[in-house]
Amino acid sequence: MRIIVQKFGGTSVATSEGREKCRRRVTESIEQGYRPVVVVSAMGRKGQPYATDTLLDLAGDLVGERELDLLMSCGEIISAVVFCRTLREEGYPCVALTGGQAGIITDSSHTNARILRVVPERLHRELADGKIVVVAGFQGMTADGEITTLGRGGSDTTAAALAAALKAELAEIYTDVDGVMTADPRLVPEAQVLTRVSYQEIMEMAHLGAKVIHPRAVEIAMEGQIPLAVKGLDGQGNGTLIGSYHTVTADRVVTGITHLKGLAQFILRFNDEDLSLVVFQRLGNAQISIDLIQVNPGLIAFTVLQSAAEKARNVLGDLPMEVEVRSGFAKVSAVGGGMRGVPGVMARVVAALNRVGVRIHQTADSHTNISCLVEESDAEKAVRALHDEFNARAK
Ligand code: ADP
Ligand code: ASP
Ligand code: MG
Repeated sequence: MRIIVQKFGGTSVATSEGREKCRRRVTESIEQGYRPVVVVSAMGRKGQPYATDTLLDLAGDLVGERELDLLMSCGEIISAVVFCRTLREEGYPCVALTGGQAGIITDSSHTNARILRVVPERLHRELADGKIVVVAGFQGMTADGEITTLGRGGSDTTAAALAAALKAELAEIYTDVDGVMTADPRLVPEAQVLTRVSYQEIMEMAHLGAKVIHPRAVEIAMEGQIPLAVKGLDGQGNGTLIGSYHTVTADRVVTGITHLKGLAQFILRFNDEDLSLVVFQRLGNAQISIDLIQVNPGLIAFTVLQSAAEKARNVLGDLPMEVEVRSGFAKVSAVGGGMRGVPGVMARVVAALNRVGVRIHQTADSHTNISCLVEESDAEKAVRALHDEFNARAK
């Protein structure tokens, strides 16, 4: 049986017109000889009645993470049922399943659970019965039967996990842009669709803010060696094919420019005692994830998500040091497997940002990326400047 997993994002399934286009993609794959497993996100964006953000607004402050998961999972369940209706209207036999019913078993980290395993028996049974299986994305179930969600954007992860468990030929991620692009097209109108990219580069881009695909989805697809295709629902092109392409990175220094907003910078100054160990232990024990870490004698700098800043300040509050917390930062990154060992990339980053008057507050780098911390209000300008400098191109 040739299985394909097809995931449709929130805007794609928001209207009956959109669902009709999704249905066409599903029936085309049947015509090509595939047995489709469909994964859907909650319908629409903030403000629309069944969108994830709208459901979150219903919850308010008194609802804990366990109940938030119950609430949020409903968005995708509604969407799965509505999409089944779209398929049935044209006579296609189908079944809608929650993530748990589809066999997705997670740990118990509510609102950001990790998939531990997928038990695909039910999916195999429904497929053998001739049905199109429509799975509610973004959710799973613990071994104890508690409903969990997989972190924002997690329907991509559902699609990759099901594709790996079913040994699908391909997982297609349909969205509202034509593929993974050299930058977010909302910021850089001349951004281009990347046609073939390695798992590693896309994983890096996703971790560094390219929200078109969830990083966990890329990780799972890579582990299972499942090719991923990211495509526009309307697009004529083939979108982006993500796989084990080790050679395509060689001819470009930078593949894409990404950005992540909502960061706070911590600068800690101390005199006598070296406090670095106790600082990092306390942050670790409080489960606060830190980034852009810099340790010098008497000075530590790092960033946390703005939402964790108050907790981090409280955790460090009583230590004998000066704690400066600065809000309103963004991390802008140039990502490319081809920059490894190439001299002069940092000089070009600094030149590009200098040209548009963007101040760099901190940097970090690896073999495949250079990240700069900039003021949030400069993020768009910085992304455009770096995109121009590296002329990030589709290849
Ligand atoms: P979906 O609901 O289909 O999962 P998302 O909103 O999660 O859609 O992701 C698609 C959005 O990701 C696009 O509308 C685009 O603005 C944004 N995006 C950010 N970076 C990139 C990038 N490098 N390439 C394409 N889209 C990007
Ligand atoms: N609906 C969820 C979210 O908005 C999951 C997803 O869209 O992938 O984060
Ligand atoms: Mg998404």
